Amino acid sequence: MLVSAKAMLDKAKAGHYAVGAFNINNLEWTKAILTAAQECKSPVILNVSEGAGKYMTGYRTVVGMVNGMLEEMNISVPVALHLDHGSYEGCMKCIAAGFSSVMFDGSHYPIEENVEKTKELVALTHGKGMSIEAEVGGIGGEEDGVVSSGECADPEECKMVADLGVDMLAAGIGNIHGKYPANWAGLSFDTLDAIQKLTGDMPLVLHGGTGIPADQIKKAISLGVSKINVNTECQIAFAEATRKYVEEGKDLQGKGFDPRKLLKPGSDAVVACVKEKMELFGSVGKA
Ligand SMILES: [Zn+2]
Repeated sequence: MLVSAKAMLDKAKAGHYAVGAFNINNLEWTKAILTAAQECKSPVILNVSEGAGKYMTGYRTVVGMVNGMLEEMNISVPVALHLDHGSYEGCMKCIAAGFSSVMFDGSHYPIEENVEKTKELVALTHGKGMSIEAEVGGIGGEEDGVVSSGECADPEECKMVADLGVDMLAAGIGNIHGKYPANWAGLSFDTLDAIQKLTGDMPLVLHGGTGIPADQIKKAISLGVSKINVNTECQIAFAEATRKYVEEGKDLQGKGFDPRKLLKPGSDAVVACVKEKMELFGSVGKA
């Protein structure tokens, strides 16, 4: 059964580790991430972007698939199904469809409007036992067309949004989505520290986990980051393994063209990538 992300993140914050939130795109990715979580005895968050939701034909399909897999695969670790960078409308749809968590990305609204919409969604999600993530300050890079350039959030604004009753808070600390440029300045730990001091027990969320050096990830966790989003890295791992399979001509040998064979190296690569992240984040054995 899907659970809200609140309990697993409160536990992570208290235990000084982070729960990975991995984006799903289809059945193979979902199966791979759940396999890794179960084998690692780790809690996990399945992230769904609005684009991926559309790709999978809609949120109800996603809920049906994930709930089916939890049962058929005998998954016993805590799993949350979370809308990643949701619009107001997207959050409403996921609340109705049976997600267990949503992120309302109101960072592009003026702060007053972000606050008003967040309050409404806090009441709605909590009424259904769901968790909600809010974002303050843009996170650089591009995610499904939402663009902003690597900012650092204002700690006072973070405090204000945290006080609205959200369960987790994403704040820009110089992190960006996608691949990091060679001249990237690194995470702003001063910003993170200032945010944590004002927001106390609130689990903080680090977006754009791909390509942040391991030592910076660990330091971020020590400063209160309890959820780390990983997307691009799994995509690259999947593509590389699939490319290798095809370039070695394996799709031309025997029944190598069978989609279950063709997609297996990529799926295995996603399992390995997720396990590696769970080790790094310290969530192995915490389920
Ligand atoms: Zn993000």
